Amino acid sequence: MTAPRPTTLEDAATLPAPTAETVLGRYVKGEDSNPRSAADREKIMQNMRFGAEFSDHMASARWTADTGWTEPKLLPYGPIPLDPSANVLHYAQEVFEGLKAYRHADGSVWLFRPMFNAARLAASARRMALPELPAEDFMASLVDLIRADQEYVPSVEGGSLYLRPFMFGDGAGLGIRPSESVRYMVIASPSGPYFTGGFAPVHIWVTREYHRAGPGGIGAAKTGGNYAASLLSQLEAKAKGYAQVCYLDAVQEANLEELGGMNVFVVRKDGRVQTPALTGTILEGGTRSSIIQLLRGEGRDVQETSINFDKLVEDIRAGEVTEMFACGTAAVVTPIGKLGFEGGEVELQQGDVTQWVYDTLTGIQYGRLEDKHGWMYRVL
Ligand SMILES: *Cc1c(COP(=O)(O)O)cnc(C)c1O
Repeated sequence: MTAPRPTTLEDAATLPAPTAETVLGRYVKGEDSNPRSAADREKIMQNMRFGAEFSDHMASARWTADTGWTEPKLLPYGPIPLDPSANVLHYAQEVFEGLKAYRHADGSVWLFRPMFNAARLAASARRMALPELPAEDFMASLVDLIRADQEYVPSVEGGSLYLRPFMFGDGAGLGIRPSESVRYMVIASPSGPYFTGGFAPVHIWVTREYHRAGPGGIGAAKTGGNYAASLLSQLEAKAKGYAQVCYLDAVQEANLEELGGMNVFVVRKDGRVQTPALTGTILEGGTRSSIIQLLRGEGRDVQETSINFDKLVEDIRAGEVTEMFACGTAAVVTPIGKLGFEGGEVELQQGDVTQWVYDTLTGIQYGRLEDKHGWMYRVL
């Protein structure tokens, strides 16, 4: 089964995004805004640790069935009160997104395909019985937060302001039902280049013991539960000396799916590139989608297909598969240097296709290469 292309998310991503000027000011800063001193901010910007430090504000909105979405605001970044019986703490009604704001050489600030993230947040929300946030409100939350905290968008090569929109059921009560009250928020973390001093190939454990997602489950939604389900296998893989886990499909236990938070690609000696098809248990990455389009634009045969793991190992050993890489917003592209599995190990070389994909994608994101697909969205 192969998803039609363009996919629903890709279609939504090409809808005209409301310009920053038209959505600006929906999330307003209150009087309690209490930004850091320039000196304290500088300290953070000198030592950016991905996801560990956050900008001065956070976007916030509330939803109830009666009122719909209300109270869009920029609040000072900080703890939020939550009822101990809140739905999210017990039943994990939650979805999230991840995207980056990039500063170009001329000082302007841009997002990469934010309407893809808007559509995916809505799709994830639908699956988790959460209300959809209109794309315009999503865009507004990003634009307002980035503009308020623009000093946190790094100027260093490879740096970005990582944005984490999320939505959760904060309604009180242990009854098992969709929360009657929902909160949407965005936090932002300045981050340095993921790779310093060139690519670092990762070693991946392919598990036959655990699955990430099953048919009819929540694998295609960007939701915390999928990550919670992956933590133990991740720990066990780490203990074996592997950085991350790759999952196989839960039905045949044979076909490659994805890592805990990244999609995977296989490059073959004959030039073909393959990635697991979107069967409903894989999270559809924006990076995955962009890479498929970029490679096809170069005339390459890119197949979304099922990739049998045993056959893949044979093909790697026979030299038929020459490169593999994982991809996602945070790391962009990560070469896979080794696959470990019960009973063996195979190594892979780092190759030109991986490097080309990385250079091309980051070239577009940082404004060094022409944006032929119209993927970039100007915030500032
Ligand atoms: C977010 C995510 C990805 C990558 O998506 P991008 O849009 O490329 O960042 C892949 N797999 C999972 C499970 C994810 O949660």
